[in-house]
Amino acid sequence: MGFCINCGQQHQDGIRFCRFCGNQQPGEQLLARLRQEAEQIHYLRLQAQALAQQQQLQQQQLQQQQQYSQNQYNQQQRW
Ligand SMILES: [Zn+2]
Repeated sequence: MGFCINCGQQHQDGIRFCRFCGNQQPGEQLLARLRQEAEQIHYLRLQAQALAQQQQLQQQQLQQQQQYSQNQYNQQQRW
């Protein structure tokens, strides 16, 4: 089953024209290319998410380190 690229109605695979709005549907080659692009986008998004998580982690570590040195400084001040 596929969906019309124009009206979004569901229709059978392999048809050339939508039976609801008459819009021409993408051929197999185009669909294959679109699928490939979608996979690439998915992959890029995963990479970006991983990078963002890494940066967040690094920031958290940095904040912890700053807090730690601040505590040490406070302790030194007390003595
Ligand atoms: Zn349609």
